[in-house]
Amino acid sequence: MKYISTRGQAPELTFEEAMLTGLARDGGLYLPAEIPVMSQDEIAALAGLSYEEIAFRVMWPYVSGSFAEDEFKAIIARAYEGFGHDARAPLKQLNENHFLLELFHGPTLAFKDFAMQLIGQLFQVALKRRGDRVTIVGATSGDTGSAAIEAFRGLDAVDVFILFPHGRVSEVQRRQMTTPADSNVHALAVDGDFDDCQAALKDMFNDFEFRDGVKLAGVNSINFARVLAQIVYYFSAAVSLGAPHRKVSFTVPTGNFGDIFAGYLAKRMGLPIDRLVVATNQNDILHRCLSGEGYFKGETIPSISPSMDIQVSSNFERALYYAYNEDGGAIAQLMDELKQGGFNISQGAMEALRENFDSGRVSEEETLATIKSTLVHSAELVCPHTAVGIKVAEEHRAANVPIITLATAHPAKFPAAVEKASGEHPPLPSRMSDLYERPERVTRIANDLGALEDHIKRHIAE
Ligand SMILES: *Cc1c(COP(=O)(O)O)cnc(C)c1O
Repeated sequence: MKYISTRGQAPELTFEEAMLTGLARDGGLYLPAEIPVMSQDEIAALAGLSYEEIAFRVMWPYVSGSFAEDEFKAIIARAYEGFGHDARAPLKQLNENHFLLELFHGPTLAFKDFAMQLIGQLFQVALKRRGDRVTIVGATSGDTGSAAIEAFRGLDAVDVFILFPHGRVSEVQRRQMTTPADSNVHALAVDGDFDDCQAALKDMFNDFEFRDGVKLAGVNSINFARVLAQIVYYFSAAVSLGAPHRKVSFTVPTGNFGDIFAGYLAKRMGLPIDRLVVATNQNDILHRCLSGEGYFKGETIPSISPSMDIQVSSNFERALYYAYNEDGGAIAQLMDELKQGGFNISQGAMEALRENFDSGRVSEEETLATIKSTLVHSAELVCPHTAVGIKVAEEHRAANVPIITLATAHPAKFPAAVEKASGEHPPLPSRMSDLYERPERVTRIANDLGALEDHIKRHIAE
């Protein structure tokens, strides 16, 4: 399989190259040159298989030129062995036609573990084969950083440095980043806010001497390998509700559009998905866009579902690429207009988007009320992101088509909002109940590019 850029000007790469590169050189995002299709028989045959076996069958056509079959199977096995649930992504019923897909049984209790754990193992195998090593630097407002640390800890081909804003992440999130004892893990508490961390990261990538010197690599949500890993649970969930003989719909709490775009690829691969419903909080650029108002940036307003507080959705570019009939020139032009604040979407592209996607927006009050009502009516304590999804799903429920809401994080990751809404304190799963006793290891550092680069250079393994 070859990979091409959404902006049409970067060289075609193999899966391994696209994964190690991340962003394309023309500023675009990598996509497979052709989307592989599974027959109805092949989909039906997934019923009853383990999550790992489904993962292998769904992802194999995307990676087959870059890994051997046994090697890829072993990578998948290692990626998911640390999960706290044998089903990996179990389904729970909320009411007559509405199901929750629990994606929070990984090591950091959020769905990002599905992709990060896989990418960690993929990087390690690919780099070992090349006799190479890289330095991964990430900026985080909470969830991505801990998922990256858990994915790369103890791997000897990688050092991982995570920048987070000092004093501005939750205690659970901070401890998940500061308690891993592995020598290749480096948590940096920056004196600044999340935007400062992101700006510092961008400056490091633009400092070519530093970038080449430490072999900088990124694993943010535009990396195609992350999208790929997320396709799998759409298949496992739909098949357990009767696909391919029965259609299902999905509602996805959305920020950067990575998770729901994986659902779009699952549909293009042949999975009979009826609707893909985007659920946003008050940061609603995607809902406004899908409602026909164009794609225009607003102010980011902090919410109780902070992992969705995003005003520019990086992976939306991939959906636009298909909506514009794979016209890279048109996408490059739109992304230029975005720098000026936004763009309108052509009528044809709008129709293409509406063929697959619906959307809804949920206020803070509605989020709290949904946490409470889900506990009362279905005996489930859910995180605020999941509550946003549940609320929108209830508005889009159709007769005869089951709807599955993606539960993106464990309620214990956001205890303040959950307790405020429900009066109940969500406990951590017992396998990590000692999180508050583990010693922390963190370097507090000035919001200064020179200081950060110097620290990284001095702490990477030789
Ligand atoms: C990252 C995240 C999201 C948003 O996912 P995208 O792929 O960016 O759309 C939703 N919920 C939680 C808990 C997250 O960590």
